[in-house]
Amino acid sequence: MIQTLQAVRGMNDILPDEAEIWENFEDIVRDWLKSYGYRPIRMPVVEPEPLFHRAIGEVTDIVEKEMYAFEDALNGERLALRPEGTAGCVRAAIQHNLVASNGPQRLYYHGPMFRHERPQKGRYRQFHQIGAEALSFAGPDIDAELIIMCARLWGQLGLTDVRLEINSLGSAEERAAHRAALVAYLESNQDKLDEDAQRRLHSNPLRILDTKNPAMQALVEAAPKLADYLGEASKAHWETLQALLTEAGIDFKINHRLVRGLDYYNLTVFEWVSDKLGAQGTICAGGRYDALVGQLGGKPMPAAGFAMGAERLLALWRESGEVEYAVERPAPDVYVVHQGDPAQRLAFRAAENLRDVGFDVLLHCGGGSFKSQMRKADASGALLALVIGEDEAAAEEVGIKPLRGDGEQCRVPFQELPETVVNVIYGAESPPDGELREESGQGVANGGV
Ligand code: ATP
Ligand code: MG
Repeated sequence: MIQTLQAVRGMNDILPDEAEIWENFEDIVRDWLKSYGYRPIRMPVVEPEPLFHRAIGEVTDIVEKEMYAFEDALNGERLALRPEGTAGCVRAAIQHNLVASNGPQRLYYHGPMFRHERPQKGRYRQFHQIGAEALSFAGPDIDAELIIMCARLWGQLGLTDVRLEINSLGSAEERAAHRAALVAYLESNQDKLDEDAQRRLHSNPLRILDTKNPAMQALVEAAPKLADYLGEASKAHWETLQALLTEAGIDFKINHRLVRGLDYYNLTVFEWVSDKLGAQGTICAGGRYDALVGQLGGKPMPAAGFAMGAERLLALWRESGEVEYAVERPAPDVYVVHQGDPAQRLAFRAAENLRDVGFDVLLHCGGGSFKSQMRKADASGALLALVIGEDEAAAEEVGIKPLRGDGEQCRVPFQELPETVVNVIYGAESPPDGELREESGQGVANGGV
């Protein structure tokens, strides 16, 4: 027996029932991003491995443990499946001079990311992020807008109970001063550090504040706070951000221990968290990364952005009960049943003819009796069936049988098909605006006969 193959662990198939929900979600997300002036960008899924070392940082979970990095067997180049989108987006912007040629950019992307993590609810090895990156914006205004726009999306999806945590990481110098104080504090408490913290004490002490180890909570709670090391400019940025959020009616909590797992952030960082998703509660995370463009070899410029986890958002959307209202299961307008070769030829023409004017049409394929074809037509959810047998084909006519409501079956000349179907489906009313196209005369059916 031939053994069946399975998808890679932690990488999920998204089957049609589910994929339809995704497409709906993506439509909402795209409209929302457009309404804030964000434009799409699409980067490769594979990037040179060094990009992520430089952008994300060597001493990070992603680079140390989670990255799918490999050697291109054909030329020995070190490559990686992208674990996130910011690095690639910034690389692309630099490579194509986006900002120099066109000024500040609001960009977004949506697509699969890859991290070798332990798969569990809300944590996968292939997952999807929606990311927004605002390049060459320096002020707290764009930080506030990035946060405010998230709140609008939660509203549009009908999500409640999503809370916002924010923090300021200050500037590199302020972080260095804080870091020195933090290392001194941690060194004087070395006996209380777990293995991870021991290892990070000198390489990435800020990350220790982010520990999930309950035994270390008291220790990190009492650690020196970065907020106490902010200079005038950072403080002003931080305060304006808070004022803008308050003005917009956005509730937030300042979390001094929010440092984010990626090295490239400065000043504003934020996370949107839900309590309904268990341990994987962060649905969106972002902040300012003013050093990244320079770090990747571009002309230095300020920037800020966020990434949200699509799987977690969709789980929350489903949980909210809003999905059923938002997602329509698509059914065809018309199902075409037919028998015999001449009827089949007419059926193809009829189906194309109706698609020309904008109907969704399922043409029965695979033969079978009229009875079994009619059962399929019923099950398809179509509003009406076209019935074409030998008689109809010989007379160049088409039978129209309403499948919903109490309309009468009729038979019309082929030429009158589109207008009759419009009448049967919409009655005396004209079709909703934009629902149907004007008959173009350019379609396959018309062109082909
Ligand atoms: P976590 O602390 O949950 O590991 P992270 O800090 O590593 O998250 P980011 O790199 O900030 O996550 O990615 C932004 C968002 O992408 C997260 O808030 C989350 O919603 C989503 N995300 C990250 N990793 C995964 C994953 N392995 N599976 C599903 N979603 C993920
Ligand atoms: Mg992670």
